[in-house]
Amino acid sequence: MKLKVGFYGITGCAGCLLSVIFNEDEILDLVDLVDLKAFPFVKEVNIDEKFDYVFMEGLVADNDDLKTLKKLRKNSKFLVSLGACASTGCVPAYRQYTLKENYEHLIYKKQKRLQDLKASPIDDHVKVDYYIPGCPPDKKEIVNFVKNLVIGKEPKPFESPVCVECRQNGNQCLLDLGKPCLGPITAGGCDAVCINGKFECWGCRGPTKDMNLDLMIKMLRDRGFDDKFIQDRMRTFVGLKMPMIEEYMCSTGTANRLKTSFKGKKEYFE
Ligand code: SF4
Ligand code: SF4
Ligand code: SF4
Repeated sequence: MKLKVGFYGITGCAGCLLSVIFNEDEILDLVDLVDLKAFPFVKEVNIDEKFDYVFMEGLVADNDDLKTLKKLRKNSKFLVSLGACASTGCVPAYRQYTLKENYEHLIYKKQKRLQDLKASPIDDHVKVDYYIPGCPPDKKEIVNFVKNLVIGKEPKPFESPVCVECRQNGNQCLLDLGKPCLGPITAGGCDAVCINGKFECWGCRGPTKDMNLDLMIKMLRDRGFDDKFIQDRMRTFVGLKMPMIEEYMCSTGTANRLKTSFKGKKEYFE
């Protein structure tokens, strides 16, 4: 019997799901390996279906998201958090740092049935069995994950920081060039793809278990980056899972400055 698998999305950009579809070489393998019951854009079924595995993209932002998530959790043996939005909040969580009045008119006042909820990763609401990190996750990583499930092999997260793969690839360290790379505190497994292309790591795969936040902040400050810059950079992909950034920066007064600047944005939004 093939595993019954469903892919779903709540609030996100659909980029994680597209990562699966655009996996031209492997998508047909995947369809052969499992009984694919649901996939947005391709094959939709209602959420009352029973699954072995559900892959969930996106974070919880409103009452519809929460209802969908809880129903799918109930109907699946295993729930997989697919991508940074579902796991750590990512870009859609940025609204968390502005005032509600800056965004609610864009959707919540137009679609009356939607009730705004605090932006939150899915494991704030339901048990998550596995995480596939990244924004978006690596295409091959998703397919390998499914292949491991099929042969009964427990998928293991990559726990070393991005710096390990970066050094193996022979890249020059961007911190040494004065760039704000978050590789030292970010879990690898992406082959340091951004640094290979000369872009610094923004931390999309989430923090390592033993990250040294103090040292990372010190290294960035030593290179001339101010606290607002550091806080914004660290928040971008993992803000909801790193509340210590807020606490850390609050002690320096940065949080107050941010509040003022978001109030300034109000006029821009309106
Ligand atoms: S993790 Fe990135 S690619 Fe995936 S839904 Fe969120 S923003 Fe889009
Ligand atoms: S460039 Fe970034 S990821 Fe690579 S070694 Fe330096 S800090 Fe680490
Ligand atoms: S280098 Fe950093 S930002 Fe780029 S894919 Fe890897 S974890 Fe994400």
